[in-house]
Amino acid sequence: MTSIATLGSHCALQLLKGAKDEGFKTLLICEKKRQKLYERFKFIDELVLVDAFSEVIDERCDSILQKNNSILIPHGTLIAQMSSEQIESIKTPIFGNKNILRWESDRNLKQKLMDEANLPTPKSVSSPSAINGLVIAKRHGAAGGKGYFLASSEDEYNKKRDQLIKEGMIKGDSDLYLQEYTSGVLAYLQFFYSPLKKELEFFGVDKRHESNIEGLARIPAENQLKMEKFTSFNVIANSPLVLRESLLDEVYTMGENFVNASEKHVPPGMNGPFCIEGVYDENAQFSAFEFSARIVAGTNIFMNGSPYTTLIFDEPISMGRRIAKEIKEAELNNQLKDVTT
Ligand code: AMP
Repeated sequence: MTSIATLGSHCALQLLKGAKDEGFKTLLICEKKRQKLYERFKFIDELVLVDAFSEVIDERCDSILQKNNSILIPHGTLIAQMSSEQIESIKTPIFGNKNILRWESDRNLKQKLMDEANLPTPKSVSSPSAINGLVIAKRHGAAGGKGYFLASSEDEYNKKRDQLIKEGMIKGDSDLYLQEYTSGVLAYLQFFYSPLKKELEFFGVDKRHESNIEGLARIPAENQLKMEKFTSFNVIANSPLVLRESLLDEVYTMGENFVNASEKHVPPGMNGPFCIEGVYDENAQFSAFEFSARIVAGTNIFMNGSPYTTLIFDEPISMGRRIAKEIKEAELNNQLKDVTT
């Protein structure tokens, strides 16, 4: 019998609760410093204690996961803490498509896939000398927005880049990706694509609360001008959104285009959960600045279902539980190879 495993962070509680509700044995790769936290949750059957998550590729973790017939569910922490090479070398079957995670981590590949999917995106800015208007400088990988900054000129960019180098967050220009800043309502669109049913499900929308950019609007302009501290976009929390119903048709179209482009360029495609992240402008035009090719932490809001899952399922369902259901069905029909890589 298959078991379900994940790393102890990000959305592990949601994933393993969903797995337990579907009858799976659950394993958590858990950093020793978080043992006490995760022991509180009775739906976690086994803790595999490690000093660092990178041990997931070591012999010991590998043999425990193998013995338990585990499927590993990837999330943001896996991408943030391990290189694409390390992730691709994991022997345990990974739910979804582990090859697409490299496309998430590399900003240039990421932009290519979004272009192939015909997603409208803010323009990327080729170099600091090409800055001509407000840009956002972003770090590669799933940095969670930490250390991202805004700049309106090359000088301002250089000053802020040097500060990040001093703080040890980046080594130089090549660690930063420049993109036009788009102003509007930010929305993070959560989807699940079932490789078994070949169907796209729209799961929910969230917004992110990012520090300290979110606090800026509470400070009068004259005080802002005197501030020494740069803004950052460090995600602290998420809250739910519902969209105007007239926007839904385009949401499905964007999701389907993304699934089709992924199937073509990164086989076996965008199987399982993913998220398209962007901004609605004053004309309700969406511009996607990012995608996540795996479950996002914003789904933690909807552990009991979202307004949109209510329309598809007759029971409250989280993304974690949806994943477990897909694995269960695949196992029943001898199709586990179709839902893992
Ligand atoms: P990302 O790592 O691309 O998800 O970016 C982290 C955060 O930076 C987002 O949640 C947004 O708040 C902000 N952001 C990123 N790109 C843009 C953009 N082009 N325009 C406006 N805000 C952005």
